[in-house]
Amino acid sequence: MLGRHYQITGIVQGVGFRPFVYQTAIKYHLKGDVCNSANGVIINVFGPQGSIDSFHEILQTAPPPRARIDHLSFFEVPFQNEKEFRILPSQNIETDFLPVSPDICICEACRNEILDFNNRRFHYPFTNCTNCGPRFSIIERIPYDRPNTSMKRFPMCSSCTVEYENPLDRRFHAQPVACRDCGPQLTYFRNGSDGIFGDHALIAATESIKDGEIMAIKGIGGFHLACDAMNETALKRLRGIKHRSNKPFALMAKDIPTIQKYCMVNPDERALLQSAAAPIVLLKKKVGCIIPESVAPTQNELGFMIPYTPLHILLFEMLSPEIEVLVMTSANYSEEPIVFGDSEKDRTILAQLSDGILTHNRQIVTRIDDSVTRIDQDHQRIMIRRARGYAPDPILVQRQMNQILAAGPELKNTFCLTRGNYAFISHHIGDMENAETFQAYQEEIAHYKTIFRVTPEVIACDLHPNYLSTIYAEKLSEETGLPLIRIQHHYAHIASVLAENHRFNAESAIGLAFDGTGYGTDGFIWGGEALLCNNASFERVYHLDNFPLPGGDTAIRKPYRQALALLYANGFSWEDSLFPVSSIPDREKELLKTQLDHHLNCVDTSSMGRLFDAISSLLGICQEASYEGQAAIELENVADPDCTEYYPFEILEDKILLKSVIGNILDDLRQGIPKSVISAKFHHGVIQLCLEICVRIREAVNLNIPTVLSGGVWQNQILLGGVRDLLEKNSFNVLLPRQLPYNDGCVSFGQAVIANEIKDRMR
Ligand SMILES: [Zn+2]
Ligand SMILES: [Zn+2]
Repeated sequence: MLGRHYQITGIVQGVGFRPFVYQTAIKYHLKGDVCNSANGVIINVFGPQGSIDSFHEILQTAPPPRARIDHLSFFEVPFQNEKEFRILPSQNIETDFLPVSPDICICEACRNEILDFNNRRFHYPFTNCTNCGPRFSIIERIPYDRPNTSMKRFPMCSSCTVEYENPLDRRFHAQPVACRDCGPQLTYFRNGSDGIFGDHALIAATESIKDGEIMAIKGIGGFHLACDAMNETALKRLRGIKHRSNKPFALMAKDIPTIQKYCMVNPDERALLQSAAAPIVLLKKKVGCIIPESVAPTQNELGFMIPYTPLHILLFEMLSPEIEVLVMTSANYSEEPIVFGDSEKDRTILAQLSDGILTHNRQIVTRIDDSVTRIDQDHQRIMIRRARGYAPDPILVQRQMNQILAAGPELKNTFCLTRGNYAFISHHIGDMENAETFQAYQEEIAHYKTIFRVTPEVIACDLHPNYLSTIYAEKLSEETGLPLIRIQHHYAHIASVLAENHRFNAESAIGLAFDGTGYGTDGFIWGGEALLCNNASFERVYHLDNFPLPGGDTAIRKPYRQALALLYANGFSWEDSLFPVSSIPDREKELLKTQLDHHLNCVDTSSMGRLFDAISSLLGICQEASYEGQAAIELENVADPDCTEYYPFEILEDKILLKSVIGNILDDLRQGIPKSVISAKFHHGVIQLCLEICVRIREAVNLNIPTVLSGGVWQNQILLGGVRDLLEKNSFNVLLPRQLPYNDGCVSFGQAVIANEIKDRMR
């Protein structure tokens, strides 16, 4: 007989871990105890060696589906003759900390219950269990116990208490457990009228969706605006209301067979749609797809998700067969944060955005958007917007981190807090271009600091002096006296991917950082960079030759200005037959010419993103962009998949010259070559360029070092697939982001790991 003591860290609370330990111990007739502490689960087991070994085996190989064991340590202790196996109350030591589970999609068992007329939770829209339901979005502080969540205002009825206290029940210690008698309830409001409650609220809301109206529906992380995806009138109104001219809307379909009527769904995509995170997945449209073009103008893909809460399932129960696909877009104006509260002010905004409001009285503590993902050609998940279902899962870092706050970038902002072996990268905060988002950013930083018990010793920020995140970091540093470390944007991109792959160390790596905008050490706007870097420093080895960006943001919204500036900088005249020339009003053309001649209000840039925008305009594909990346996406969408030719780039010293590529494109345009072929040749030219650069660097350093791809431009699937394949064919070890996005959503993590190195060297 012997005893063993375990300490397990990772995502082990709010995921049914203690019941699993209890049931496993009982199965092997072991005695002892298990308890939650603020830094993990602690277990003591006593019994025969063989039984303890079997228990150990199950612990490691078959934990609950939502659990994530990051570290398991154990040691032998003297045998104690305990009477039973017990679950002890949580221990809370103020300085301890632990990851918190993300929100989890409704499980199969709960789904069956709400659709079973004989079950006491039939049609109850807040049904959940230890395997599913809201988590992060309802947590105020740790440890994860009901009084620390927004469920504290709902005392459990006796039936729920019995379930909650029975270790063999699926709802044992499921903190948000509730039923019709004791839990949250629905309310439906219509302009000016009194609320309608419960089942009647659900019926009223579905009736108005059937009537073609727009509903605001409270979900896990905020309100959605929902309408019938086939109703052109409703779609048109929704675009008008949201001030969103062309940005694609997300869709929610009743189930996967419904999605398959409109889009291709391969096994990886199906698994991702059905995963616990239940994200939006970008899927290729089928030929003849009858979803109206206005849902996602000019896109080859649609973003679909499936119902992930009991409420969603019940909505479709009542809407089908008439309606099986809903537009489900965040309730907000354009780029402002999603509305998630029930205050008078929130109610007023929602009333402006919708025809009716379906809400409930379970408070959302943390607002969080739907995540957006795709499966790439290599069957891997790509994160595009990391939010509900993924955040705040930490990234495990293979070293002890200082406590750092990394403020993140301006667009697609996330911030990052580090402690122990963990980096807590926030959910997608958004573009910090308005006061509301900046306010939300500051609130979320405070919340993350509380729930993960991080007290920063160092602050990291971007080099860009005008980013709101930089200004915030500077002010915080002044107020607290904490050191502020400024980090170059593209170095952060590459460091993030290296650290995610546990390769951020003294070994050098090649980094191809291609994105829209990042402040360079020379004060210019970088974005087409080949870096040679390790955990100590970076060197900019190659970059796109600079071209002027006239009027900064104005140029970004008007790709024709970028095309004209690119032509100008490379000595090509503005012939009337060219698409950007015919797109620019005469007056603006005169002004632009003067602006370029005198380099007035022009920033020089080496941005790959801007080059793609300019080529898109040159081919007559997109002249005005209503969201970031639109011109480049449309350029990618037209590329001829059968064309294998390419435009070669020239490299002069550290500069990648653009003149010959532009010259070749203009020649092809004059000869009437289709834009699909020109787009393909341009994409392949960039792919060949990447190989050329990497080969040159490999020869110069005389070592086969890893190659890292990061930056929003890599969301282009032709480019990503092409470069990865070509580099691997040439024996390069290509490292890619897996948990974080290619885009700026990864920058805060890169800032944190670099700042950590600098902090360690300051000692
Ligand atoms: Zn469940
Ligand atoms: Zn109850």
